[in-house]
Amino acid sequence: MDDKIAARLFVTGGLAAGARLTLARGHGHYLAHVLRLAPGAAVALFNGCDGEWRGRIESLAKGGAAVAVEKQLREQRPDPDIWLVFAPVKRGPLDFLVQKATELGVSALVPAITRRTIVERVRRERMEANAIEAAEQCERLTVPEIRDAAPLSRILDDWPEGRRILLCAETGAAEPIHDVLRRTGHAGPCAILTGPEGGFEQTELDGLRKLPFVTTVGLGPRILRADTAALAALACWQSAHGDWRMRPPRPD
Ligand code: SAH
Repeated sequence: MDDKIAARLFVTGGLAAGARLTLARGHGHYLAHVLRLAPGAAVALFNGCDGEWRGRIESLAKGGAAVAVEKQLREQRPDPDIWLVFAPVKRGPLDFLVQKATELGVSALVPAITRRTIVERVRRERMEANAIEAAEQCERLTVPEIRDAAPLSRILDDWPEGRRILLCAETGAAEPIHDVLRRTGHAGPCAILTGPEGGFEQTELDGLRKLPFVTTVGLGPRILRADTAALAALACWQSAHGDWRMRPPRPD
């Protein structure tokens, strides 16, 4: 039988040799009707904690595809701990932001409602579906945690001890992000905070700047769109403090 991996799937069951999993309906349809696979095809499976395993499609019945877990391909390893706290944007750019932030290795996506946020509702299940699809494609071993949208003030009230915030401020004093990252070194858990299309209100920035765990950073002389700024800051952080010294897994 051909061991070439035909698809990569995020699953919720435990992964161990000999385990047998029933895949979600969406995965069954994808394998049978999009990829047109047949029983016997090899797939890669990951669940966020057991590493990546090779599975073998046993059946593609309408009720749900079944796969047999065969052998571990990659050990689980910790991902960099970088959150993105962001004022949600409209649906199209939000889908894009979730997908790209997942590819950039974000560990949690925290939608924060700021004074000028115009988006009323943030559909968490849509964000989760986009994050899973992007995680499957980019071969990461985890899926970012997706939080429900909450007012920024409440997020800050419950802010975890020891996690720093890099506040991306489009106005006022701000140290270039490169200099901040070089100066602070591998400073542990971190979060990037970006505002909405309309930007932060001055009073919001003033309040944020007073918090001891907040460092204000600049992303250059241009006003970036909210999604651009979030992804640019995330890329800077990954490059300086994250896992960009590693290489993608060996193609099998
Ligand atoms: N449209 C507004 C600005 C929105 S920018 C205006 O024209 O004033 C959206 C968010 O991206 C900002 O709140 C900030 O978090 C981030 N951002 C954009 N450009 C930035 C820059 N040059 N430096 C730091 N943050 C920036």
